[in-house]
Amino acid sequence: MAKQLPFTGKPYTINNYSILFNVGDFAVVSRTYTTIDGNKVPLQFYVLKEHEAKAQHHLDIFEKTIHEQEKYFGEYPWAKEKIAICETPHLGMEHQTMNAYGNKFHYTKVGGEDYDGLMHHEFGHEWWGNKVTAKDWADYWIHEGICTYGDALYVREFEGKEAYIKFFKQSAVTFGNKIPIVMGKDIDEEAAYNGDIYGKGAFFMHTICYIMGDSLFFPALKKFVTSPKYTYSNLVTTDDVQNFFSQESGMDMKPLFDLFLRSINKLEIHIKAQPRGKYLIQLDNMSIPLPIDVTTDAGTKRMMVDSKGIKVDSKIMPVVDADSYYLKKVIME
Ligand SMILES: [Zn+2]
Repeated sequence: MAKQLPFTGKPYTINNYSILFNVGDFAVVSRTYTTIDGNKVPLQFYVLKEHEAKAQHHLDIFEKTIHEQEKYFGEYPWAKEKIAICETPHLGMEHQTMNAYGNKFHYTKVGGEDYDGLMHHEFGHEWWGNKVTAKDWADYWIHEGICTYGDALYVREFEGKEAYIKFFKQSAVTFGNKIPIVMGKDIDEEAAYNGDIYGKGAFFMHTICYIMGDSLFFPALKKFVTSPKYTYSNLVTTDDVQNFFSQESGMDMKPLFDLFLRSINKLEIHIKAQPRGKYLIQLDNMSIPLPIDVTTDAGTKRMMVDSKGIKVDSKIMPVVDADSYYLKKVIME
């Protein structure tokens, strides 16, 4: 029978950037949550007394968020303590075991049901930020980028793959792309914190997912966030993520990390018309071959494209990567 885990052994490490005091006239609305591994954890909402009537519906939404995050990232990281949120004047923050909640019960619909995107995002940091923690502010995209990718996974889970693809297509036009996401080492918070660590960082995971395929990528992502080597007091760097995904995919991912994280360049895909309805498609700035969806008059096929190029027959100008799995620049001639 499932029961709450006894608190034995060493206490959890605490991520010290997220400790905060809050004082208010709260009611504490509690439940017991059963984790994906069957352990019982106290689930608490410190809600301002005037909002107490909204707490049960809010906890229903929260439970759905917790289940979904556990599906992709494994059991809630602090199962021996508690899962909690506390109403605050600020919008939200990932305080370990007690997230700040300030979204004022504003919900959107995902899959026809109420969803709190801000709460989902902050809660995702229990894995990406608090359990997996960057060693250097320079690698801060690991917190925000992968956590934001988790927000897209909620959409994918409850609205399907087309909605997930749309999520990234829409986000791609919002990137500033003025400075790289990873700018070296020993960067302070001020310098590291730019908007692209969220959206562009998440988009990069979307790219890696497409390249590896769902059946390899999702187990790999879960393996990373549940591996002792990369969690709790073992801090991580971008190189750790790069080496891990290289190992899991069986391909050297450094050129991809260099292009999309360490530079502001896009993948350059060159399409050249040739005689007799043929087209040469090649990558101009990538040393490794990559899978790309190529759409011709005969339909869409996933093809391996490299710097030498591949030839395709088509009665129309081919379209590459129609679903936008890559941040790209297409050159046609
Ligand atoms: Zn965040």
